[in-house]
Amino acid sequence: MEVSSCTSGPAKASSSFGATWFALASRSRWLLEVFLCGTLNTGHDVAASGDLKALAVVNVAALYVSVAILDAPSTTEGVYDYIVPTSVPGGDAFGDAGLGTVVIVPLRNRLARGVVVDQPERPAVDRGLKTVHALVCGLSPVSAEFLELARWMSAAYVCPVGRCLSALLPPLSGRAGGGTGAVKARERAAFGLAVSRDEADRLLGDLPLAATARRRALGALLDQGDGRGARWDNKDRAALTWLVEQGVAVRRREETQPVDLGSEGGALLVPTPEQQAALGRIETALEARKTAAFLLRGVTGSGKTEVYRRGAAAALRQGRGALILVPEIALTPQVIEWFRSAFGRTVAVLHSRLSAGERASEWERIRRGEARVVVGARLAVFAPVEDLGLIVVDEEQESTYHQEEDPKYDAREIALWRAVRHRAVLVLGSATPSLEAMEACRRREMELLTLSVRVDGRALPAVSVVDMRDELKAGNRGIFSRALRSAMEHTLARGHQVILFLNRRGYSTFVLCRGCGYVARCPQCAVSLTLHEDDGRLVCHYCGFRKEPPKTCPACGGTAVRGFGAGTERVAAEAGRLAPHARVLRMDLDTTSVKGEHGRIVRAFRRGEADILVGTQMVAKGLDFPNVALVGVVSADITLNLPDFRAAERTFQLLVQAAGRAGRGGPPGKVIIQTYSPDHYSVTNAASHDYESFAAAEREIRQALRCPPFSRLARSLYSAVEAERALQAAHRSLKEIASLPVEILGPAPSPLSRLKGRHRIQVVLRAEDAEPLREAGRRLLRAAGAAGWDSKVGLTFEMDPRSIL
Ligand SMILES: [Zn+2]
Ligand SMILES: [Zn+2]
Repeated sequence: MEVSSCTSGPAKASSSFGATWFALASRSRWLLEVFLCGTLNTGHDVAASGDLKALAVVNVAALYVSVAILDAPSTTEGVYDYIVPTSVPGGDAFGDAGLGTVVIVPLRNRLARGVVVDQPERPAVDRGLKTVHALVCGLSPVSAEFLELARWMSAAYVCPVGRCLSALLPPLSGRAGGGTGAVKARERAAFGLAVSRDEADRLLGDLPLAATARRRALGALLDQGDGRGARWDNKDRAALTWLVEQGVAVRRREETQPVDLGSEGGALLVPTPEQQAALGRIETALEARKTAAFLLRGVTGSGKTEVYRRGAAAALRQGRGALILVPEIALTPQVIEWFRSAFGRTVAVLHSRLSAGERASEWERIRRGEARVVVGARLAVFAPVEDLGLIVVDEEQESTYHQEEDPKYDAREIALWRAVRHRAVLVLGSATPSLEAMEACRRREMELLTLSVRVDGRALPAVSVVDMRDELKAGNRGIFSRALRSAMEHTLARGHQVILFLNRRGYSTFVLCRGCGYVARCPQCAVSLTLHEDDGRLVCHYCGFRKEPPKTCPACGGTAVRGFGAGTERVAAEAGRLAPHARVLRMDLDTTSVKGEHGRIVRAFRRGEADILVGTQMVAKGLDFPNVALVGVVSADITLNLPDFRAAERTFQLLVQAAGRAGRGGPPGKVIIQTYSPDHYSVTNAASHDYESFAAAEREIRQALRCPPFSRLARSLYSAVEAERALQAAHRSLKEIASLPVEILGPAPSPLSRLKGRHRIQVVLRAEDAEPLREAGRRLLRAAGAAGWDSKVGLTFEMDPRSIL
């Protein structure tokens, strides 16, 4: 991004200058304009130069702008008025600071970046007005749609409008004044693989770990499919040149014409009757050009993606665009390939693993209308597609659609907002829809479409539940039940593959002294440390703190200090012990931190280079492995026991997703769920693939407890080094909202009571509707920005929190 100060005027305007200026303005804008320009541009005094031509180009339209500061503190509104120097006689024009322009403005003793959100006739405050410092050139202004969206988000999520704008601005690849991303983004050089993907994959495995640039470049080529979506920067150039020299990559000329879309997408499949029925509803709504919302509930393997592809094709036939949102974790090269094979170059991909330059480049392609189908993760909901016809949110129940930092938005709601604005069709898809989505169908705010059979007509896998208490009674203290062990042996002996799922990484969950009960804890957070055998350290999964595991107990000096509880590392190790000839791969946050690794593991397993894949929820989501005949859920209890009202729902969803990985290709699938709560309705209904019974049971509980969707929640979280200060601040600030029709639960320590050295006190607010909660949020945040607030206490406010840990 390039920032340039397009004027030669001084950076700051004194407050007395602002006041004088305003006083004059009321008499004659025109005069004032001249005065302003002359004063600003000290080298070209208007009166002295007498340059009438320069006077003639003076623009009197926008003298003031309201600027929303992008990094405004959440306790302020963060919108301030500034003066715009419109043009400079004898010098360059300042440029047009129209609505949506990104500007640099002075703010207290620093420069801040903001967006012009208004051009008021008169400033709200007429004293101490400062002047816009510079326009950010090379960035297209925020569109009217996004200005309006930011205002809506600001009200809905109780967040300064500037912060909302920062979420939907085109990607900036550098800080103000630095960076080169936007320029590089226009570069059109494209590279592709010159060898088969398998060969490239093997080479990636062979490259030394130290060759990071080469590994990254090759990984990106593999991730991009044909590589044509990638834009490269100078760092990558040497690595790419090397890959070309090795005959692994080729440089090719970019196609400038998008693929002809009239061809109906050669790669589309013949729809099943159920798919056809769902599509019929979607296409009818598209033709009517009216906003419509559908919930597409389809069992795993029922071909929801094909409905999305055909829906997108229908939107394109109308000359409209499509937006397909997928959870980040499920946005695999495979998914991207499904869309590229149907729509070619008109597909743009947006996700957080792209470099800033790559994102900027995709963004530009979308803005120019070259890309009409956008496939991406949460942030892609802000893709600047014009005339949207279809918006899909796949796996709508995923919590990753909820952004946890400001603005704490829900991408599903943004998708709905945009669907209304564009008169588009919104499709939320899921095998296990959230209770909120189901309730919306009940209230007829959405129409339910169902895919009840798998496309290939295969049966859903047989699921059995193993009661781990029986294993203990039978003297089996291992992490695998007898049933899972024998099923693994049976499956491997037939040359089929096994997935072992455990939603917890590391080796041992905690380290305990059997002598005195001492547990190694994080000094910063209220959690125990996880033992990682990979690097032989104890690690905090919340703050990253690491230390050597103690050899003797620091409390009693005893030597009976051992690890308990299993994570994915231990599952992989024990699987290897159980089946010494089996090749084991592990996929979790620890093994996929390098870009491209996730895809490499997936491809290797699909090619049959390993027999057992051990992983966290990463392996449960959206992946398709035809040769997997057995899925073992090592423990269903981890999510079930979370102190959160959505624990049962999450457990059910994860179990169904994990089970859905079995039996997708050749051999019929079998699933074994190990648990200490075999009778829990999450487990029993997941085992019988019975979403409706689960949803009915869960609905009743939510209704009785008045949890969402039968109420709205908000959370305000107070944090401080000293617990007492946070608690006092919470009590004091609650007086601000005592008169509101809001139920106040707390203050109480949050379940994760200490994080990174700060104590956390939370208040959960509950109401029938969102509005009183938003008003509460506004008041609480205002109080936290006012005099008398304990500056040692931090406050965050969140609407509809996905988790209250
Ligand atoms: Zn001890
Ligand atoms: Zn920690």
